Amino acid sequence: MYDFVIIGGGIVGMSTAMQLIQAYPESKILLLEKESGPAKHQTGHNSGVIHAGVYYTPGSLKAKFCLEGNRATKAFCDQHGIRYDECGKLLVATNDIEMERMKALWDRTAANGIERHWLSADELREREPNIVGIGGIFVPSSGIVNYAEVTAAMACEFRRMGGEIRYDSEVTSLGEWPNEIVIQSRSGEYKARFLVTCSGLMADRVVRMLDVEPDFIICPFRGEYYLLPEQHNQIVNHLIYPIPDPSMPFLGVHLTRMIDGTVTVGPNAVLAMKREGYRKSDISISDMVEMFTSLGILKVLKANLRPGLTEMKNSLFKGQYLKEVQKYCPSVTKADLKPYPAGVRAQAVSKQGKLIDDFLFVNTKRSVNVCNAPSPAATSAIPIGAHIVAKVKEQVGELSPVGVFVDREKASA
Ligand SMILES: Cc1cc2nc3c(=O)[nH]c(=O)nc-3n(C[C@H](O)[C@H](O)[C@H](O)COP(=O)(O)OP(=O)(O)OC[C@H]3O[C@@H](n4cnc5c(N)ncnc54)[C@H](O)[C@@H]3O)c2cc1C
Repeated sequence: MYDFVIIGGGIVGMSTAMQLIQAYPESKILLLEKESGPAKHQTGHNSGVIHAGVYYTPGSLKAKFCLEGNRATKAFCDQHGIRYDECGKLLVATNDIEMERMKALWDRTAANGIERHWLSADELREREPNIVGIGGIFVPSSGIVNYAEVTAAMACEFRRMGGEIRYDSEVTSLGEWPNEIVIQSRSGEYKARFLVTCSGLMADRVVRMLDVEPDFIICPFRGEYYLLPEQHNQIVNHLIYPIPDPSMPFLGVHLTRMIDGTVTVGPNAVLAMKREGYRKSDISISDMVEMFTSLGILKVLKANLRPGLTEMKNSLFKGQYLKEVQKYCPSVTKADLKPYPAGVRAQAVSKQGKLIDDFLFVNTKRSVNVCNAPSPAATSAIPIGAHIVAKVKEQVGELSPVGVFVDREKASA
């Protein structure tokens, strides 16, 4: 019998495991991951940006955790010798509409407590000779890191403190009983007093295993990138972002300096025909049936038909994708766009047909389940983990006197 079992070896699961064992050092904790190692899905297929928290609704969990996570991620990297670069980010307006939207973002950054500097077109050119725009915002605290390295360090820390990790252990069913959770997996059956699930693209399916009918569905959006050739590694000095359309949940195609010194272009956002489908040709009939029979997803598709079709066109035709980049970086050519692996975002969609914006958790008596953790959840993974541990403590307290946790916690205090 384990005290805690965690499902999911992405950055959210691993951060939670690490902080749970720090909070309950005497307890027996197991993390189950279906792949052969950590960070094989969203955490290992992203832009690697340590976000500052520019875009998020003031007062939301995203705004709070991103700001805290920006500092916590850098501190964790310092402690564990993981390289990161606080290179800063530039948001670039290329026309009058974007300038209006940029002013709104400027106010939002103030409300979110972020250091930022307004740049005129000349100041923009001075900082970034290869970028054109009529103005910009410079955010110094944005940075870059490899989140797979961060997750691996969290896994090491968790194991060093006595935590157990089992890979190749897909969880196939769950049973919540008055005194325990029973977990069936590809590596056998386990029992736990408490469960935390951080299963990314599978969040709704895992919650359903607990006999909870989720009022959301995970919609997979593929984010496709290109890599610029080595001679363009110095094309930009910062991360370069367009001004996003506020009605869209994604940030738009950006130029990202990666921690290995290369520069990527992307990601776009196209509906994926398979969860965990990284190639355009990846299709799952059962995933498609699930998606296209979901009223929520159908409503989202209807409401976003035009931008959705544009994204598909940009995905299918390199020349169209290029136009998105050339708006602010005209020197990039079609020949510069080299293939690069895509990522797939897990975006929760409500039954009412809304893209759920904020981080979302669903709890049962003996479980906490992360149900929506899209960007900036990699940046925010440490505060998300801390939030889950606080929730677990609350719920475990209510389980007393059945739970052994309380005694153990007191013993270790
Ligand atoms: C294209 C793209 C770009 C992004 N850019 C950024 C960025 O620059 N900065 C940022 O902060 N965020 C970014 N994000 C978001 C960020 O990557 C995710 O929010 C974050 O990685 C989510 O972590 P996670 O642990 O919740 O999910 P995941 O990393 O997807 O991990 C979930 C894990 O659960 C496992 N799992 C699922 N079901 C089961 C089961 N039944 N049994 C056992 N294991 C299971 C999966 O195998 C997986 O390893 C980006 C995302 C994408 C896709």
